[in-house]
Amino acid sequence: MNSPPRLPKPDLLERICALFPEAVLEHDGSLRIRGEEGVLISLYGGGIRIALSCIVPDGARTSYLGAEPWCDFAAAADFDDATLRKHVEAGLAARAAEYRPCIRCNDRVPPERRIHNDTCHPCAERWDGAVT
Ligand SMILES: [Zn+2]
Repeated sequence: MNSPPRLPKPDLLERICALFPEAVLEHDGSLRIRGEEGVLISLYGGGIRIALSCIVPDGARTSYLGAEPWCDFAAAADFDDATLRKHVEAGLAARAAEYRPCIRCNDRVPPERRIHNDTCHPCAERWDGAVT
């Protein structure tokens, strides 16, 4: 009797770490690359999920680093490194594309740190009196 093929999950994580040495292992076994400006990579069932990092408010003036699912794809056992790198880099590019310069200070900020899609929270407070 043949047993079903098993995905080499630990191997995939190790290979992603080798491709992106800056990857940090999170407490749940996911890999975070480039912090809030990057992605979170998790393995599940038969696939790989790439989620874009995001800053999640959890109270007055506090937040934590979360992630929004962006792309799921089957984790084929024969993925070559170029395919893995292509998927991860596509996620990193998608997150980078979310950043825009603030119209007042020109700092590049993600959407969760902008008001009206063009002003960063500190500038909105300083110049517009907005409470962020
Ligand atoms: Zn600003």
